[in-house]
Amino acid sequence: MLTAENLCKAYRRHAVRVPVLNGLDLEVKTGEFLSIVGASGSGKSTLLHLLGTLDAPDSGRILLDGRRIDNLPSRDRDALRNRVFGYIFQFYHLLPELTTLDNVLMPAYIGHSVVGWWKARSKWRARAVELLTKVGLGHRMHHRPGQLSGGEMQRAAVARALLTSPRVLLADEPTGNLDAATGDEIVRLLRDLNREDGVTIVMVTHNLDIVTATDRVVRMVGGVVTDDTGARKPAPFHAPLLAAV
Ligand code: ADP
Ligand code: MG
Repeated sequence: MLTAENLCKAYRRHAVRVPVLNGLDLEVKTGEFLSIVGASGSGKSTLLHLLGTLDAPDSGRILLDGRRIDNLPSRDRDALRNRVFGYIFQFYHLLPELTTLDNVLMPAYIGHSVVGWWKARSKWRARAVELLTKVGLGHRMHHRPGQLSGGEMQRAAVARALLTSPRVLLADEPTGNLDAATGDEIVRLLRDLNREDGVTIVMVTHNLDIVTATDRVVRMVGGVVTDDTGARKPAPFHAPLLAAV
């Protein structure tokens, strides 16, 4: 469903070119829960940004259902970001002055004109309430993020990511800021969403304990991915080839 072909990406630091992805190939199948592991700095976030069209590769292609999406005009990319992809980040990115409910509604505010929003608002509110209830926050809808625990904030972020019914959820270290037990709860929630609602999930993590809940694990080393099937225990640790640059 989502395919990366021969992706290359480098950043510039001062005058130095720092290669991060070096001809990376990856295929994400419809309905799977894929985890991507790798050392810090191995390019996991970079890959996720490219898959979700938040950034563009230097070369290579990204295909969704066989159609190229990495070179779309920005209007079409905006539509994809709003309808096809949902994003979850390590630090939640909730707006502190809004209630949990309004935070979850944010993608709908952004996706509509004022008039469009006004017409559709009761539908969106009902959907937001349904999702907040689903993630176990039915009793926290009118709280602000500052009144929530880390796990609750991440649940709110999951509900927000699901508001527009995305087909693919891209999660970047979703448990990275949580204690082990709370992190497990978030992964279980993602697992349930994947199983029950068929949401395809690509989760980046450097926590090898949580990947056991996922269908498939790939590892990033030296700017490419290697299959990690059967290696649920940590494989020998490879220093990223380019760490020294
Ligand atoms: P990971 O998520 O696996 O920790 P990242 O994709 O964030 O890795 O980063 C890979 C490498 O690219 C790191 O060396 C990082 O410092 C560098 N990098 C990431 N984003 C930028 C950027 N915007 N500008 C310059 N260098 C970056
Ligand atoms: Mg990262």
